Formats: sequence, C-alpha cells, structure tokens
Amino acid sequence: MIQMANITKSFGKNEVLKGINLTVKKGEVVCILGPSGSGKTTLLRCMNYLEKPNNGEVTIGDFTVNCKRPSKQEIHTLRQKTAMVFQHYNLFKHKTVLENVMEGLVIVQKQPKDKARETSVKVLEKVGLGNKLDAYPSQLSGGQQQRVGIARALALNPEVILFDEPTSALDPELVGEVLDVIQKIAKEGITMIVVTHEMGFAREVSNHVVFMDEGVIVEEGKPQEIFGAAKEERTRQFLKRIT
Ligand code: ADP
Repeated sequence: MIQMANITKSFGKNEVLKGINLTVKKGEVVCILGPSGSGKTTLLRCMNYLEKPNNGEVTIGDFTVNCKRPSKQEIHTLRQKTAMVFQHYNLFKHKTVLENVMEGLVIVQKQPKDKARETSVKVLEKVGLGNKLDAYPSQLSGGQQQRVGIARALALNPEVILFDEPTSALDPELVGEVLDVIQKIAKEGITMIVVTHEMGFAREVSNHVVFMDEGVIVEEGKPQEIFGAAKEERTRQFLKRIT
C-alpha cells in the first residue's frame, strides 16, 4: 500500500534520513516513535514530498515517485493520495470551520460546493463539531481546532492520513479528546501514519510501531513486541526514559 525504499535526506551536511525502508499495509495504523531530532517528521514529510528525498522511491497504492527529477504532476498526484494533520493545526484563521474543511474539496479536488458542503458537515459531525460549523478557529480550543484539522484531512478521502505530532501543541487536558477522535477513525480502517510521543496511544491503537533513532529505523514490530519485548537496547532505553 505504502512503500518507502532507500530514502535518504540531508539538510546541508546533516544527514537526517540514512536509507529508510518502510512498508505500510492498507488499513494499518503505524506509530513512529523516537527521540527528538531522530528524523520522524522529516520521514513523514518525505511521504508526500513536502520534503523532497535525496534518494529513493515513494509508492502509495499503485503510484511510485522516484526522487530523481520527479515532475510537478507526479508530486501533485502523490499529494492527492495523502492528507496531513499538522502539530499546529494550520487552519485558515479568516475562514469558518466549515470553510476550512470545504477549501481542499472545492479548490484542489474541484468538487461542486454543494457536494463539498455535504461531505464537510458529515466529517465535522464525526469529530464532534457539528455545532461549530460557523465558528472561527480563534473561538475554539486547541483540541477543537485540531479536530477541525482531522476533519479536513478526512474530508479529502485520502489513501493515507499522515499525523505529525497531532497532540504535542495541546494542553494536557485536551489531548484525550483528540486521541479519541483519531482512535475512532482508525477503527474505520483508514490507513494512518502517526508521529507521536503518546505511548499509551501507540500501544493501544496502532497495529505497527516503528522506532527511529539518528535517521534509521532501529526496530519495528507489533506494539506488544516493541513495548513488551524490544530487541534493541536503544529502543529499551528510549521506552524506559519516556514511559
Ligand atoms: P523529529 O521529528 O524526530 O524530532 P525531525 O525530522 O524534525 O526530527 O528533524 C531531524 C533533524 O533534521 C534535526 O536535526 C532537525 O534540526 C533537522 N531538520 C529538520 N527540518 C529541517 C529543515 N527544514 N532545515 C534544516 N534542518 C532541518
């Protein structure tokens, strides 16, 4: 379903990804864990070419992009298959909740407004914001804003949703409501890749856990394998520090 093959990425002399190979099956929820600076966000952003890898190939579904001179059209096609939920929500401040969700459907997917509105209302109800359609982001809590971010991603009906530390900008008391929404949509079988520091979430919701350190995948496996019996010392040390 999703495959990253031999992905490398450097910023100047700093080699941040050192040959990543990762396969994600359809319907899987994959959590990417690891210390700060290990390359998790960069890996996620390479999947939809928000960062262009220096080497390697990204495949989503039946579509492969090789990073050697990809065309704009190829990158556009790849992006259409993904949606991203950002740490800081990235909502349009001067648009309402409903307009924020409709935007991608009308502008990028060229859907008629009526259809876009119908889809947007449906996903906003799903994330518990059916009563906030006309509110502006500034009138919402951080948790509610992030749920708009999730609704916006869901509305696009992508093949995969990429979550970049979706709860790390939130006050602790608001984390739960966002994780609950992510868990709810995970149960619907949408493929999701989640960079997170929420170990409880990774343990309970994911099917597959990837542990990264210093630009490589150190270890990956089922949550019970990683949390219960990690093979690598680096993984064990990290989990001991964080849990
Ligand atoms: P993580 O998500 O695991 O915290 P990141 O992928 O954000 O790690 O960052 C990995 C490394 O890449 C860090 O050293 C960071 O400073 C560097 N980095 C990330 N993005 C950029 C960028 N746009 N320009 C320069 N360096 C970057």
